Amino acid sequence: MSQRVVVITGGSRGLGAGLVASYLESGDLVATCSRSITPEVEAWLADPELAGRVLFEPADLARREDADRFVKRVVEEWGRVDVLINNAGVARDGILGMFSDDDIDTVIDLNIKGTLYVTRAVSRRMLARRSGTIVNISSVVGRSGYRGLAAYSASKAALDGMTRALARELGSRGITVNAIASGYLRTEMSHGLDEEQLQQIVRRTPSGRLGEPDDIARACQFLTDPRNTYVTGTVMVVDGGLTG
Ligand code: NAP
Repeated sequence: MSQRVVVITGGSRGLGAGLVASYLESGDLVATCSRSITPEVEAWLADPELAGRVLFEPADLARREDADRFVKRVVEEWGRVDVLINNAGVARDGILGMFSDDDIDTVIDLNIKGTLYVTRAVSRRMLARRSGTIVNISSVVGRSGYRGLAAYSASKAALDGMTRALARELGSRGITVNAIASGYLRTEMSHGLDEEQLQQIVRRTPSGRLGEPDDIARACQFLTDPRNTYVTGTVMVVDGGLTG
């Protein structure tokens, strides 16, 4: 397989860092961004074996200018984008009635608007080349909901809708668009759940555990494999059977 240019948003930690590691392992050129740099990112940038294969841009994707600048930089460096994985996301938990305007804006501005900004900038380039593949990292709560996650669940349901619409819009130009509805992962984001809630989720999960970034990365690699030209417009559930 030839070296692909892979853009993964929010790769500085958690699932995003796992996705970056997976695509570096498959030999691709990987560009990522986040607001802050982490030891993981520093280690990739300093690794001589990865020289020229990792690009990091500090960016707040809730800001349109940052999203456009990030995509522009990737194209200036590597000439194209073959794979886009919209992973950056944020959750705010609490009873909706107690939410501030800022809590609502934070979730909607990144999860929906930020994803649309990046995808708009990338899809323009993919359209011109008549090839590419996009995966949106969604969540099972976009379908099932979860108490205390109304804004977040709404944002993930929106991503699923965007996935289906874009698959129709871009399909005839050789571009596939899918989403992965992830189950609960042990990352910084799930720290909002207490140990009892996590144990309850594990008990209800046929696979008997929480998800790992690798579980999602494997599904992502399948959807973005260049041989996949027929799976598009789908929301693939990867949740250990929790919501099946
Ligand atoms: P995480 O550990 O909180 O990581 C989020 C990543 O996004 C970080 O790299 C973060 O870096 C970046 N990010 C946050 N705000 C950003 C902004 N405004 N602009 C650019 N980058 C930003 O979360 P995670 O659990 O890995 O989640 C990754 C994705 O999986 C999200 O879309 C999430 O909704 C989805 N997901 C997670 C779970 C779960 O249980 N954890 C379940 C289902 C789906 P900075 O903060 O430095 O910007």
